[in-house]
Amino acid sequence: MSPPDFPIAIIGAGFAGIGMAIRLKQAGIDSFTMFERADEIGGTWRDNTYPGAACDVPSHAYSLSFEQSPGWSHRYSPSAEIQGYLLRLVEKWQLRSHLRLRTEIVDARFDEQRGLWTLTTADEQSVAARVVVSGVGGLVDPALPEIKGLRSFAGEIFHTARWNHSLELTGKRVGVIGTGASAVQVVPSIAPQAARLSVFQRTPAWVVPKLDTRYSERRKRLFARFPLLLRASRFFQHATSELFGPMIFLDAPRLSAVGEWMSMRHLHAQVSDPELREKLRPRFQFGCKRILVSDDYWATFERANVELITEAIEEVVPDGIVTRGGVHELHVIILATGFTVGLAQAPFTIIGRDGRSLDALWSRGAVAYRGMTVSGFPNWFILMGPNTGPGHTSVLIYTEAQISHTLQAIRKLKREGLRYVEVRQEVQDRYNARIQGRMKYMVWSSGCNSWYLSKDGSNRALYPGLAGEYALRTRRFRPSEYALVPF
Ligand code: NAP
Repeated sequence: MSPPDFPIAIIGAGFAGIGMAIRLKQAGIDSFTMFERADEIGGTWRDNTYPGAACDVPSHAYSLSFEQSPGWSHRYSPSAEIQGYLLRLVEKWQLRSHLRLRTEIVDARFDEQRGLWTLTTADEQSVAARVVVSGVGGLVDPALPEIKGLRSFAGEIFHTARWNHSLELTGKRVGVIGTGASAVQVVPSIAPQAARLSVFQRTPAWVVPKLDTRYSERRKRLFARFPLLLRASRFFQHATSELFGPMIFLDAPRLSAVGEWMSMRHLHAQVSDPELREKLRPRFQFGCKRILVSDDYWATFERANVELITEAIEEVVPDGIVTRGGVHELHVIILATGFTVGLAQAPFTIIGRDGRSLDALWSRGAVAYRGMTVSGFPNWFILMGPNTGPGHTSVLIYTEAQISHTLQAIRKLKREGLRYVEVRQEVQDRYNARIQGRMKYMVWSSGCNSWYLSKDGSNRALYPGLAGEYALRTRRFRPSEYALVPF
């Protein structure tokens, strides 16, 4: 079989990669290959299978606008349902034949004369691509905490994103380290099984009610019969999150106070013990870290078999976790300690025009034009790149805008027979200066520590504004912002 005349490589088969592949198919472009290092598609939703794993963004909004599903069981769908949705899309759009699973790309180099990327896989195969779409995700690799003696633990220890499903927790003494978005889902789910559940909290976080509901069969039938209803629900979910957005991302103490009041009401409704409430009460401004969404996390601490440990962890010993109060004896330790943030470096060696290294460029802070294209790296498009994450709404609004932008660039390249398109350095610089300039109005640097911030304290993760604004500004590929280089 001869190679396609315009090979496109999509790296990563999570939401972003699959969305890109479907859009290409819809545009009649079939010459793409999806490279996925794991043995199945799905990204986050393949990996996060811990008890209680679900999306804390409503499903009608957290799904592709061009592939709406009327069948979600809940307003906030469980992880397995989202993975099922992605698997169905792969079958529906016949993406299997484009997929190369267990294929990790470890190196990419651009040949300017030929306008061609050469990708190298971990097993040293070479793949040529005119365009590369990187959808490798930002929160993929589990972050293991640097705690003395962690490896000496004699019981079972695993990360939330690598759940050990063969292990029965019933009757066991279980410790959870971390109280972020993963922990608030896992803690209430395993509390009824564990003989004793000890939650090690370093920083209490703001929690707001989720108000989850099950969609009745009748409601689902209505959504299926009247797609307009589904679209209206999606619009409503987006609009609500955008409405609350400024309260979550602006450094505006009066707005934050409204969120803090809502959260404190929730705490009072869930926890009757004032001493416990005081331990759970956050000390940083609302929105500085990711807001947690749960109907039952705080209430779980009222259970007799659940304890909140607020003393710092000193070390892990074979029998359990040591704090100032002594050893907390445990059979199992669950690390709900988050992920290494992908933007701290290039995902692998990427060498663009004139031998430029993306890793070297990003070592001074990840930059890209609208989070998607980087000067010096022609025909390379990033989905969910620098400063394109939201703290308040569905990431897919951003991703879809990026997919649309990328698709237009691909069409232009093909239609005009261009060698490459490359964002102009001055356009990228102006954009990033503006983005970083806006950061001073955002709450993320108001005095808390979070994965949003890079080592130098700057925020390279989130978009400082509304998702709607980002989507409107990004959706269209503007040729004037790019160098269009012919053969
Ligand atoms: P995370 O938000 O980074 O939380 C990690 C937790 O572990 C924090 O409470 C942190 O404490 C604690 N921790 C880390 N190292 C520690 C140490 N050495 N000793 C004690 N505690 C330690 O991680 P996550 O909960 O997995 O969530 C990560 C992101 O994934 C979220 O922000 C969100 O974007 C995404 N996520 C989304 C959903 C969803 O439903 N959409 C669900 C889960 C995750 P400190 O706060 O003190 O650092």
